[in-house]
Amino acid sequence: MESFDVTVIGSGPGGYVAAIRCAQLGFKTALIEKYNTLGGTCLNVGCIPSKALLDSSEHFFNATTHFKEHGIDIKEAKANLPQMIKRKALVVKQTCDGVSFLMKKNKVTVITGHATFKNATVISIAGTDGKVSEVETKRTIIATGSKPSTLPGITIDKKRVITSTEALELKEIPKHLIVIGGGVIGLELGSVYARLGAKVTVVEFMDSIIASMDRSLGKELQKVLAKEGFEFLLSHKVTSVKSGAKDVQVEAENSKGEKIKLSGDYCLVAVGRKPYTENLGLESAGVKTDERGRILTDDNLQTNVSGIYAIGDVIKGAMLAHKASEEGTLVAEVMAGQQPHINYRLIPGVVYTWPEVASVGFTEEELKANGTQYKAGSFPFKASGRARASMDTDGFVKVLADKTSDEILGVHIIGPRAADMIAEAVVAMEYRASAEDIARMSHAHPTFTEAIKEACLAATENRAIHI
Ligand code: FAD
Ligand code: NAD
Repeated sequence: MESFDVTVIGSGPGGYVAAIRCAQLGFKTALIEKYNTLGGTCLNVGCIPSKALLDSSEHFFNATTHFKEHGIDIKEAKANLPQMIKRKALVVKQTCDGVSFLMKKNKVTVITGHATFKNATVISIAGTDGKVSEVETKRTIIATGSKPSTLPGITIDKKRVITSTEALELKEIPKHLIVIGGGVIGLELGSVYARLGAKVTVVEFMDSIIASMDRSLGKELQKVLAKEGFEFLLSHKVTSVKSGAKDVQVEAENSKGEKIKLSGDYCLVAVGRKPYTENLGLESAGVKTDERGRILTDDNLQTNVSGIYAIGDVIKGAMLAHKASEEGTLVAEVMAGQQPHINYRLIPGVVYTWPEVASVGFTEEELKANGTQYKAGSFPFKASGRARASMDTDGFVKVLADKTSDEILGVHIIGPRAADMIAEAVVAMEYRASAEDIARMSHAHPTFTEAIKEACLAATENRAIHI
């Protein structure tokens, strides 16, 4: 039986980053992954394929709606879904192959098969060929990620009633896609098919879409997506989903108990994800989970068993790739005796619709709830020269700063390239910048980032220049 200093279970953005950092720090490292390709949910059926389809569908949407105004006349743009899916598969393959290359480069031993703890230091691996092997390990990092959740009484048949995984592989553009859940997955994948011509109805339990973000963002996004043809049924709880050979029937009721019936050809269930620890043998290792099945950890992400750590979607916190990666790095450095730190408040959240939505820090609702005295400054993209040039005038930047000290407490953006722009806010907040600090820094003209400067000016004695 081969022995390792560290064994990582799961090759998603948590696990593979942890493995690389462990190897960089001199640990003899193994990475166990049950699938033949590395990269986990994010690279195979999550972040990367969804962004590939979002980009393709956005090109199509622009070609059919905006090109004419830009002075580009095309005869007839046709959406070729099989080609979009084929291109997506190539992007996924290149990205997953990149991870395999990185494992070789860093001399990480990759073992393919399903890992199960025999005890706290021995892991057995059931290979796809039916062979079982074992490794001995001084320390283990559990990075087994998450799987889609469903609702009680609803069967995901993967044909008509689907999760995000099947939505990334559809053979046809739905005529009417019913989406349960107005969260990130529902809106991103709903956008893909709405742009390609599907009617999309989102049924959301809460009274807002993307309800965990600053409420102003959901309000604005709903307005823009409604213009693109999305229908929203907010404050509606889905009570039943029934699928036929070619259709799907969905029933929902609002807070007053009034029922509605919807009929479509596909139903995407996007009501969150749950930690994945199936057949991992946590009991044999003595590792404890909480009431939601998440592995319990301390501040160093060590479980209740010494030497066993857990990171990413399988523990508490935001289910985001970059959060998982930061945790992978942290654990490797903790093992090496370093004192790393993650500021969980500054993990940005992004929704890759168009306009994009990006957020970091406290929301206005949170500041109100915890009684913080704050000031707000906003700047709309319709007042940005750059946004007018590219015809991306929907949305705004909102900056929230401490009323007395002017320290930036939250930045919430809906607009073009918000996903990239939020990095400026993260840097500013990491260094505890004031709104005036950013307001006084030169931002290249014309850029979308000028809107951040203007929102900071607005937060600083209401002195935005261009509005
Ligand atoms: P995962 O990526 O889930 O990886 C876990 C791996 O462990 C899997 O490969 C699994 O096969 C393996 N595994 C599990 N059990 C075992 C076992 N017993 N033995 C061996 N291997 C095992 N996040 C973002 O930040 N940005 C995005 O744009 C984004 N888009 C997304 C789009 C979709 C459609 C979905 C579904 C998710 C998206 N996410 C996004 C979320 C992101 O994918 C996850 O937060 C991230 O993948 C979590 O990483 P992880 O390493 O914890 O787990
Ligand atoms: P989510 O938590 O973002 O949204 C789920 C939504 O479903 C919520 O708004 C919830 O109120 C609603 N819901 C729950 N029960 C319902 C019911 N009975 N009827 C109607 N609505 C109901 O979850 P998701 O969209 O499935 O995404 C899962 C995870 O994947 C998220 O945690 C997210 O962080 C991650 N993800 C991230 C990205 C990104 O970073 N861009 C993209 C996709 C997924």
